[in-house]
Amino acid sequence: MTQYTIDISRIGGWAKAFAAPVVKQLPLFVLWLVALSLGGLLDIQRLLNLEFPSIQYVLGQLRVMAYNLCLSAMVAYSLSALAHMIGKQWLRWLLALTAIGVMGVCLFVRYHYGTRLTPEIATVIRETNRAEATEYLMTYVFSSTGLPVVVAVVAAVVAFMLADYWWQRWAPAARGWHAALVLLAVPIVLLGAAKMVLSWPITDGLLQRERNHYENLGVDAITNLMICNYVMHHVDDQVPVSVASTEKVYKRPAPPLSSDSLTLVLVIGESYIKSHASVYGYHLPTTPCLQAERDAGRLTIMTDVVSPYHYTNMAMRAMLSTSNEADGDKWSRHPLVMAIFKHAGYRVSMWGNQRELMQGTTNTQGLNALMYHPRIMALCYDRLNTRNFEYDDQLVKDYALHDQPVGHELVILHLRGQHIKAERRYPHTTQWLKFTPADYNRHEPYINADVLQQIAHYDNATRYNDAVMGEIFKLFAHRQAIVVYLSDHGDEIYDYRNSIGRCDDADNPKLMVKYQNEIPMVVWCSPPFMAAHDDVVERLRRAASRPGTTDNLSQLLLGLAGISSPYYDARLDMLAPEYKCPRRMVRNRYDYDQLMAQ
Ligand SMILES: [Zn+2]
Repeated sequence: MTQYTIDISRIGGWAKAFAAPVVKQLPLFVLWLVALSLGGLLDIQRLLNLEFPSIQYVLGQLRVMAYNLCLSAMVAYSLSALAHMIGKQWLRWLLALTAIGVMGVCLFVRYHYGTRLTPEIATVIRETNRAEATEYLMTYVFSSTGLPVVVAVVAAVVAFMLADYWWQRWAPAARGWHAALVLLAVPIVLLGAAKMVLSWPITDGLLQRERNHYENLGVDAITNLMICNYVMHHVDDQVPVSVASTEKVYKRPAPPLSSDSLTLVLVIGESYIKSHASVYGYHLPTTPCLQAERDAGRLTIMTDVVSPYHYTNMAMRAMLSTSNEADGDKWSRHPLVMAIFKHAGYRVSMWGNQRELMQGTTNTQGLNALMYHPRIMALCYDRLNTRNFEYDDQLVKDYALHDQPVGHELVILHLRGQHIKAERRYPHTTQWLKFTPADYNRHEPYINADVLQQIAHYDNATRYNDAVMGEIFKLFAHRQAIVVYLSDHGDEIYDYRNSIGRCDDADNPKLMVKYQNEIPMVVWCSPPFMAAHDDVVERLRRAASRPGTTDNLSQLLLGLAGISSPYYDARLDMLAPEYKCPRRMVRNRYDYDQLMAQ
């Protein structure tokens, strides 16, 4: 009988053999490790700049960084092993120069765009033709931001040359180093290999998850490239489908326009937590304008509307496409509602304050790739604004400058609302610095003066937003106008846990969904419109408490405009008598009504 025994003394030998590529090719290994993890390591600066991150968040980000560092080590190890096995000087140099190239690109993107390589930047780079790129690179190389990168690249080449020369001749003799390297390299490389095996095969689901957590800091170059590639592919995949679906609108004859004129204004807010609005019962007076309009009978407050998503791009696509998510419809297979208005003879104006917001994140990449796609712009809008503004009031003022009433018009105002950081969403003048930490009677363990200040900022931004709405009502008060206002999704500002924004909370989905997916939605009618349309006012009154989802906003808009279109389905129009609320799925995961009934 054969005996299988493990000779303990041989384990040391295996470990040494395993670590040999690191030991023999240390400069190359370190160079690749740095090149691949540099972007993630530079994110530490962002982590340090965050104000009041929770411990949980910091630990989570550090864990991501550590994992990705191991993955980088694993790839650096494989390349060093290749150089070690083939043993040719030219290969070592080829690999080293490639690593320095990767590092140079990383530094270039960091200093030029202030971020890591993102799908948006990758798209720009991909769409730049070679002649342009060369000319651009030459200009960049001699610019003030370009020079430090060039210096760093040259320094890396010189450093590698010296380190490699020294290491190949002298260092492998130092035995103390060997043991240390073996002890260090073996577990790190194995951890990286484990991460790679665990995330294999690379599925869409996995990358989708990575993409949803794209704000994660410390992502290594390989994962980052995969995410960029996935998102670019995803956008490429969906936008042409949406363009084709939207083009179909024009293949049918235009529906007749009603003789009554109408200005339909759609205001899309941002990160507005429904329960922070006093019209929804908040304890501080954050919405005096909305309240005054409600009391005057011009404003209907829809009390039970949720957004199916908590990301801007997904929420906006769902609300502007004529699909119905509850049917498992893909948003891109249905036309965007703006095209139906335009084809019906409405003049469509799109004034957006998020054209340049959060550049470099996948949200904007996905959304703006659609909203400002050249074909979509031609099919959907007649007029667009040209620039972003610091505050939403400036956007409204800019629209007012371009306001030329016509018989039938759809005006879309896309605000920045209360988006993180709320502190930056309103002017810090005495008029707007209304709420202070003294206004809150909160005693949870995570509450401190800074947290209270952030909540106050959010509520001040909400009150500022309310005044912006007041300006919008004023602007359209003297014509036949309806203003529909809703937020793309909610947000969290330490409402029930030590968290801000839209982090996941699998332990308490009910509260997470309450703060992140319940949104405010109101419909305002101008005095002339009310005088001429009792029927619409009555329909609104009846619909106020109906359950709804922002996914079917397009149906409500078509219904209000009375556009007869094959894309209109009264059963999905909250204001229609035939309305039947579809199943309200949120985040593709929870049945909202079931979750709230728990
Ligand atoms: Zn948003």
